[in-house]
Amino acid sequence: MKTVKVNIVTPDGPVYDSEVQMIIAKTAAGEIGVLAGHIPMVAPLEVGAIRLKKEGNVQDIVAVSGGFIEVRPEQVTILAQSAEISSAIDVARAKEAVKRAEERLNASKADDIDFKRAELSLKRAMNRINVYEGNI
Ligand code: ATP
Repeated sequence: MKTVKVNIVTPDGPVYDSEVQMIIAKTAAGEIGVLAGHIPMVAPLEVGAIRLKKEGNVQDIVAVSGGFIEVRPEQVTILAQSAEISSAIDVARAKEAVKRAEERLNASKADDIDFKRAELSLKRAMNRINVYEGNI
């Protein structure tokens, strides 16, 4: 099976660089699976998991906190606000973030700016926990 080069880059630097058979990503319009030779496109990403298939199986999972996926026939670039490969996730830190976010959600009103921020923080932390646990 043909492979496609994938790079995942954040403002802090590159996180992932490999040749894969398939990239599965959660875009704002739904989940997409990208193979070599895909038509060019750009799509915004949700907070979610990027699953990378090699030799027929998902071998790497990367948690991303939004950004963009740019697809070209032989190269896929993911520009993410933050990205961690599952083995690099500090799950205790993510659980602390969930606790903090839940406290803030309880302490603020739904139209408050802090409420929105806490909701986003909770989403990022839950995504990290799910990716760490392979629960995606
Ligand atoms: P926290 O409240 O724990 O800082 P956060 O969602 O606010 O979480 P971000 O602003 O998304 O954190 O990320 C800041 C930096 O910390 C990024 O480089 C990100 O990859 C890293 N990071 C955040 N949480 C974790 C985690 N649980 N494990 C590993 N790296 C993390």
